[in-house]
Amino acid sequence: MNYDQWKTSNPQDEGCLSDLVTSCCGSQEESSELSNCCGSSFWGETDICGDCKEHADNFMVCSDCGGDDEYSYTMIEQHEYDERKRDDANEFNNDDI
Ligand SMILES: [Zn+2]
Ligand SMILES: [Zn+2]
Repeated sequence: MNYDQWKTSNPQDEGCLSDLVTSCCGSQEESSELSNCCGSSFWGETDICGDCKEHADNFMVCSDCGGDDEYSYTMIEQHEYDERKRDDANEFNNDDI
């Protein structure tokens, strides 16, 4: 086995981005296909907002509940979400301990 070759053939850490989940559902986020300025659809195949005719970006939404990233959630790491969930569960289950 040539370990040097194996190491250099995998320069990108693929786990880097996929660790982030939405804080509301622990889910992935996805593009809403709506402009982040007006919540309007885009003009044809462009990145121009169909409402104000300015350049705009998609805003992102939670793929689970559909909440948007401005009001409903932030992206957090998977282990952080697990911790929050555990803290919530502990509050409800105080009697069982
Ligand atoms: Zn707009
Ligand atoms: Zn959600």
